[in-house]
Amino acid sequence: MNNFSYVRAADVDSALRLGGQPGAAFIAGGTNLVDLIKGGVEQPRVLVDITRITALAQIQETAQGGVRIGALAPNSDLAMHPLIASGYPLLSQALLSGASAQLRNMATVGGNLLQRTRCYYFYDTGFERCNKRRPGSGCGAREGYNRIHAVLGGSERCIAVNPSDMCVALAALDAVVEVRNLRGTHRLPLTEFHRLPGDTPQRDTNLGAGELITAVELPASRYAQHAYYLKLRDRASYAFALVSVAVGLQFDGERVASAGIALGGVAPKPWRLVEFETALQGRRLADVDLSALAAAALAGAETFPYNQFKPELARRAIVRAVRVAAGLEAA
Ligand code: SF4
Repeated sequence: MNNFSYVRAADVDSALRLGGQPGAAFIAGGTNLVDLIKGGVEQPRVLVDITRITALAQIQETAQGGVRIGALAPNSDLAMHPLIASGYPLLSQALLSGASAQLRNMATVGGNLLQRTRCYYFYDTGFERCNKRRPGSGCGAREGYNRIHAVLGGSERCIAVNPSDMCVALAALDAVVEVRNLRGTHRLPLTEFHRLPGDTPQRDTNLGAGELITAVELPASRYAQHAYYLKLRDRASYAFALVSVAVGLQFDGERVASAGIALGGVAPKPWRLVEFETALQGRRLADVDLSALAAAALAGAETFPYNQFKPELARRAIVRAVRVAAGLEAA
């Protein structure tokens, strides 16, 4: 573990000034960053502690009927908040399926957005070949043990998956990420916040250097009555998703008025199923061949020797999650 200096920011403006120093990193709950520092994967020269900026921990209703979630809201507080539990059960379910109670108490919304892949080769600095950790060194996972790796959206350089449950639900819910820098504020749809690896797998997100996530905004609730987060994993708790599906449905009578559906555990970013959603709109679920739509959603999957099960698992998971969200079968 390298030496680093530690400073505490009193407000967002001072955090941005401190975070603009070379080698600076923001720290809040530290549930991922501290592990990365201990393992030598990340080597910040300055840690800027933002945990005392209490204004960033608030969860409030917006004038448009949505919810503004401060970036420092702990995952556990967010999952249990009345506005979320009643209006956005999909997000509550996803948050409560992640990590452990202790980690959820520490982990923040902003940190969850930025958590890094759990690819074994990324964390083990004894492995030379990891383009995400050492650009240009190769990808140990493509020819190695790739059971947890991506089948959609990967590249020759990297097939790591985004490990977040929260982000899969946020993608389905049309969340927007609010970002501050020294010039002002800008917003990114959640679906554009994370990046596909392409030729630059070292960059997980479109967050610029020194920029700070200040909030996540949710539009007015549409899926309070029909939402389900299905997480499939090797253990019943404290394990990352092999496949997860976030489904929100809004009905007009028997017909689907709108749908938000995203996959986790299969791609380097939350994987929104836009064509699947469009195909449901205006139709009775009884008239839709969900299996065929799910098969089309996975048609472009590229598998590797140890994760060949993933497309079929994802296809079945999508169908089940949609049916549970619609109330057609029990969870
Ligand atoms: Fe590194 Fe990505 Fe390959 Fe994993 S999948 S070894 S993170 S380059």
